[in-house]
Parts: sequence; C-alpha cells; structure tokens
Amino acid sequence: MKLGIYGGTFNPPHLGHLAAARFALDALELDELWFVPAATPPHKVLPADGPTPEQRMAMVELAADGLLLPGRVKVSDLELSRPGKSYTADTLEQLHARYPDAELWFLMGTDMFLTLQNWREPEVITRLAGICTFARTQSDSGEMLSIQAEYLQKTFGARTCVLQLPHIVDVSSTRLRELLAKGEGREYLSPAVYGHIIRNRLYGVDYDLRHLPDR
Ligand code: ATP
Repeated sequence: MKLGIYGGTFNPPHLGHLAAARFALDALELDELWFVPAATPPHKVLPADGPTPEQRMAMVELAADGLLLPGRVKVSDLELSRPGKSYTADTLEQLHARYPDAELWFLMGTDMFLTLQNWREPEVITRLAGICTFARTQSDSGEMLSIQAEYLQKTFGARTCVLQLPHIVDVSSTRLRELLAKGEGREYLSPAVYGHIIRNRLYGVDYDLRHLPDR
C-alpha cells in the first residue's frame, strides 16, 4: 500500500490544503491519503481563543468528505489521541509499526520542507517516509526546493519529490483567520467548512444565522 500522510494544524483547513491533497493523490498514485491534524503542533503557538483540536478535526473531516473519495481520503486521529506535542517522527513510527509493508509519503508545503532538518528526529522521519513537497505561492522558488532536496538526500539519505501543482491557492490559515474575523475569506473554504465555522461562531465570525440556508 502506498500511503500519503498530510499533517498540519488545519486551523482552519482551506482550499490550498485540499488542492494539494487532491493533486498528490493521483500524481503519487497513492492508495490512500490521510490528513493527520496535530493536537499540539511543536512549532506553532495556537491562538488561545481558537478552536479545540476536536473542532479542527471536525473541520478536516468535513473538508476531506468534500473531496468525495471516501475510500481513499481519510482523517486520522493518531495525533489527537496522543498526549504531549505532536511530533511527526512519532506519528510515522506508529504508522510504520501498524503497517510495516506500507510505503509512506509525507506531504508538505515549501515552508515546512525548507526547515525539515530542524524538526525533531529528521533522520527518523526521512528513514520512515519519502518527503513530497509542493509550492504554496507562485513566488516559491523551484531552485530552492531542488537545493533543499539535494541537501536532505546527502544529509539523511532522504527520498524526496517535488510536485508541480497545476493550481496554487495562495492562502494560509493565518491569513484566513484574519479574513474570517472581518466577515471575509469564504472563497478559500469548502462550503461545508465555512458552514461549520459560522454555525459554531469560530474565528470571531459573528454572522446573522438567519441568512444561512437551512440544512
Ligand atoms: P498557519 O497559517 O496557521 O501557520 P498553514 O496555512 O500554514 O497554517 P498548516 O495547517 O500549518 O496551514 O499546513 C499544513 C500543511 O499544508 C503544511 O505542509 C503547509 O506547508 C501546507 N500548506 C498550507 N497552505 C498551503 C497552500 N496554500 N497550498 C499548499 N500547501 C499548503
């Protein structure tokens, strides 16, 4: 089995995440792609008034459902069910123990790829999974990615691949949270995730719910 792992905070999950996941699924010929929301991301401070890990997980489930590939796209609670910080090395160790014959590919945007050597136990991560990256913005440099891929290969023996996304959605969850607080940003979200956000009044949105269509 060829299994793609897409980790992240997903606060909230947006169309950039979905476009990359959808493309990677076919480009890498993955049997399955698993979104793995982090409970406590090691490298980010989550806003204290933001959604709980369970609420982020619920949004990722709605976003993943929208891809309409239930057998191939899944959401895993591996990191939510583990105490402490959500280290990728631990997640991959767990997956490898559970599926020793699976070929694991960890998917990440440029920002993560360029700092991989600073993550906890990069040698474990690169031993257990291939690393597949893609640009997040038009200005992400392909040359930079190639240099980093070569560095990771030489330093850790990493297997890497660089995907050219046909459609880059230039947005981050941080930017989206700012937009949502102003009543904007809907175009970057799947309809189901947007509906969930406003019904639960996440990210400071304060809409008049009477304007929402019934479900
Ligand atoms: P934040 O702004 O809160 O830091 P983020 O938008 O970077 O969040 P994460 O959930 O931290 O989102 O990202 C999970 C993974 O998705 C990372 O590997 C990241 O590089 C990638 N990613 C984020 N935004 C995009 C995008 N617009 N296109 C492609 N990949 C993306």
